[in-house]
Amino acid sequence: MPASSELIDDLRSVEGARLWVDAPMAPFTTIGTGGKADLLVTVADTTTAVGTLRVLEDHGVPWICLGAGTDLLFADEGYEGVVVKLADSFHYVEGMPAPSVGMEDGAAVERVTVTVGAGTLLARFAALAAEAGLSGLEFACGIPGSVGGGVATNAGAYGSSMAEVVEEIELATASGVSWTKVADLEWDYRLCRLPAGALVTAVRLTLTRGEAAAILECHRSILRQRRSAQPRGVRTFGCTFKNPTGGGAGRLIEAAGLKGVRRGGAEVSRVHANFLVNLGDATTADMLALMSLMRAEVERTSDVSLEPEVRLLGTHFPWEASTAGPQEPPDSDG
Ligand SMILES: Cc1cc2nc3c(=O)[nH]c(=O)nc-3n(C[C@H](O)[C@H](O)[C@H](O)COP(=O)(O)OP(=O)(O)OC[C@H]3O[C@@H](n4cnc5c(N)ncnc54)[C@H](O)[C@@H]3O)c2cc1C
Repeated sequence: MPASSELIDDLRSVEGARLWVDAPMAPFTTIGTGGKADLLVTVADTTTAVGTLRVLEDHGVPWICLGAGTDLLFADEGYEGVVVKLADSFHYVEGMPAPSVGMEDGAAVERVTVTVGAGTLLARFAALAAEAGLSGLEFACGIPGSVGGGVATNAGAYGSSMAEVVEEIELATASGVSWTKVADLEWDYRLCRLPAGALVTAVRLTLTRGEAAAILECHRSILRQRRSAQPRGVRTFGCTFKNPTGGGAGRLIEAAGLKGVRRGGAEVSRVHANFLVNLGDATTADMLALMSLMRAEVERTSDVSLEPEVRLLGTHFPWEASTAGPQEPPDSDG
């Protein structure tokens, strides 16, 4: 259903909000498929974010926050709701110390608190921390999302995740802006349950002083591992399914013989079977057809039910369609 003219007028009256009616979502995601959102609103600062969320609450329309779009799949039919995006002014880092000259032997562990805007790219932030000799974010050096998206998805790799380094989160809701302690939020594998109607605007993390050279070498080693294990230079949303307890989803999909299988313009990566690739003209329907196949074949061959890691908006996963009601926005997005 298209956005009402009253909603559009009310959003236009929020200072610092920029609107795009019928906004195509494919260019805003790394997979590059899907239809349009009724509205895309870019917010310039936290005051604008609060004003925007207030209008959305008053009108009772569904909305989601778009980060870097590296973990999102929009339905081909589009998303009947509002997509809120943080403007470039949310790309900032405060409190980053000058590059370290190294630690003396026996020196006490020194913790450093850094504040980062939620729009900042996580990998860029991890690189800045490494150059400053701050340890703790090495796991994030190859994760392509934003800091806000990293919190909402509890992004992680190599046994660490955001939950371990984040201390406080600045949240904007229709009622205002406030900082929430990480212990007051519920974290799970690839999920942080944010309060309903909240979007992350900034994050405070505690990192540990270390040797910049050693931290940078750790980054290089992780990036080398990623380059050899994951497809490069392709359109993808990273891992399609969460790893089940005790094993990798990719190994199960590969064991089911699905590497290289195609549906339309989508392919199960030949490099890493848990990655789907848009070969150029894929649709979200192609992606969902492959996801259904992967899930069914892994269930048949390994007796494991895979759970999606990618967030789907505007429709249901095919295997949920017969039982689910209308789709609610995910918890983390209001
Ligand atoms: C090549 C590749 C490799 C990847 N490797 C990894 C990996 O190793 N580990 C891993 O965990 N993930 C990985 N991912 C997935 C993805 O990068 C992460 O999940 C990332 O944290 C998502 O951030 P984003 O900004 O792109 O969020 P989006 O994809 O834009 O959104 C994802 C979810 O976060 C919510 N969200 C985004 N920003 C905010 C905000 N400011 N406030 C509230 N909610 C918000 C959205 O509403 C949505 O529910 C990979 C993806 C790709 C393409």
